[in-house]
Amino acid sequence: KGPAVDTLKPLHQELERAVALYRQALRDNAEARNYLQTRGVLAAAIERFELGFAPAAAQFLTRNLGKSGEDRRLLAAAGLVSTRDDGTVYDRFRERVIFPIRDGRGRLVGLGGRSMDGREPKYLNSPETPIYHKSRVLYGLHQAREGIRRTGKALLVEGYLDVITLHQAGIDNAVAASGTALGNEQLELIFRAAPEIVLCFDGDSAGEQAAWRAVNLAPEHLRQGRLLRVLFLPQGEDPDSLVRGQGSAAFHALLATARPALDVYLEGLQKRHNIVVEDEKAVFLHHARALLQRLADPILKELYEQRVATLCGLRMARHPSPPLHQEP
Ligand code: ATP
Ligand code: MN
Ligand code: MN
Ligand code: MN
Repeated sequence: KGPAVDTLKPLHQELERAVALYRQALRDNAEARNYLQTRGVLAAAIERFELGFAPAAAQFLTRNLGKSGEDRRLLAAAGLVSTRDDGTVYDRFRERVIFPIRDGRGRLVGLGGRSMDGREPKYLNSPETPIYHKSRVLYGLHQAREGIRRTGKALLVEGYLDVITLHQAGIDNAVAASGTALGNEQLELIFRAAPEIVLCFDGDSAGEQAAWRAVNLAPEHLRQGRLLRVLFLPQGEDPDSLVRGQGSAAFHALLATARPALDVYLEGLQKRHNIVVEDEKAVFLHHARALLQRLADPILKELYEQRVATLCGLRMARHPSPPLHQEP
């Protein structure tokens, strides 16, 4: 791919240097280690996910990696530091637990940082840079590759800690769309890794909204043989809290209750439009048909068209079935 690779490589390398420093800082900082301990993150997971700590000092990275002007330009290009109007350079991540984010090929592309004392924002991510495009990255995909391959399934959750807790509990096919609403590019990325995806959002209003947004993306992704399911967690729970509170067996039991994305969409529509009255039924039908129209798989489309027709008390227009085998 020529010169582009050469100009991006130094950015990946700069992030590697920063993460090495952050990992050492975590070993040196009892408060940060204690925070992770209270969150139930064990030493093996700290290693596997390369967790670190960004110290409070505003010039931690600049002092360590920003000796020359060129060095400081690299820090800025990698999204690690910002520059004030007066020219002083300061670290983007300060007093935060650091979650390194690798792309599908294992290259370091960005960081997530969590405050430990309730300070807002709770999470801070790398800005968009030439190597970090948040809509194209899934946190944990690098670590989950093997688990996804083994199970043929991927589990998509909301947060870094959800991914880490699940992996720690042996559910090693979990990834997250961190810091962004799940988008088409991420869905395609994960479907390329596995034909079966379970979306698992938090049992709160943000999670419910995220699920609705996600099922609206479903049709174009439901090519033959692909399954997209949605798991709703009990109110107030996320995968991390559920596994830590009730264990992985309870989570596995819930996984079995995941529902097809299109069912979730139709049920959501029914909640929004009371199909007992004709004028609202018309709006329901309009939306339902618009979604089903986008389905590429003719069989899936027919099945759901039948479902919608039955729901609305319509008789299906019979069209002659095409022949199963066409002569050449
Ligand atoms: P924790 O991750 O500490 O358990 P939480 O579960 O309460 O916190 P949520 O509010 O449910 O966090 O957010 C879900 C996930 O979305 C977070 O774990 C984080 O990965 C991501 N996230 C939340 N807020 C932001 C933000 N402001 N910027 C980037 N990512 C965020
Ligand atoms: Mn939430
Ligand atoms: Mn959560
Ligand atoms: Mn949580």
